[in-house]
Amino acid sequence: MAKILVSACLLGSAVRYNGSAVEVNSIDFNWLVDSQEIVSLCPEVAAGLPVPRVPAEIYSGSGTEVLAGTARVIGSDRADMTEFFLSGAKMALQLCRQHNIRYAVLTENSPSCGSGFIYDGRFSGNKKVGAGVVSAFLEQAGIQVFSQYNVGRLRELIGIS
Ligand code: SF4
Repeated sequence: MAKILVSACLLGSAVRYNGSAVEVNSIDFNWLVDSQEIVSLCPEVAAGLPVPRVPAEIYSGSGTEVLAGTARVIGSDRADMTEFFLSGAKMALQLCRQHNIRYAVLTENSPSCGSGFIYDGRFSGNKKVGAGVVSAFLEQAGIQVFSQYNVGRLRELIGIS
């Protein structure tokens, strides 16, 4: 059994910016929750952001650029929320270190938790390829990040490790 960090909103916690959770209908995700040791976290709420909160997107880059200091996380009200997102990423890594976690399943498209896609930073509803701040930070630290859409890959990995 592996310990897996999982986005709290994938586990039914209503912690998204609009006070909702993310519904997941997937055999692989059900397998994950039923058979592995799950450590749940919402990095944005852990960093002190409220529920509900203004939506945020990464402006002019992805999580990698935010970590490098060349892009910022901006709210739809134009407030700079970067420090909250960096703080959430550090908390996520701390939790992984504390529990010796090597894998995470985080919510796709989020400016924190997205691993393959994020919104394009213009609040247009369009997405672009890239990772959120938490996923980029964890990946840089050697933790493999999956989304709710590719848990099957993690399942294969755990099955052979
Ligand atoms: S995607 Fe991540 S930061 Fe956003 S609500 Fe879910 S757990 Fe929290």
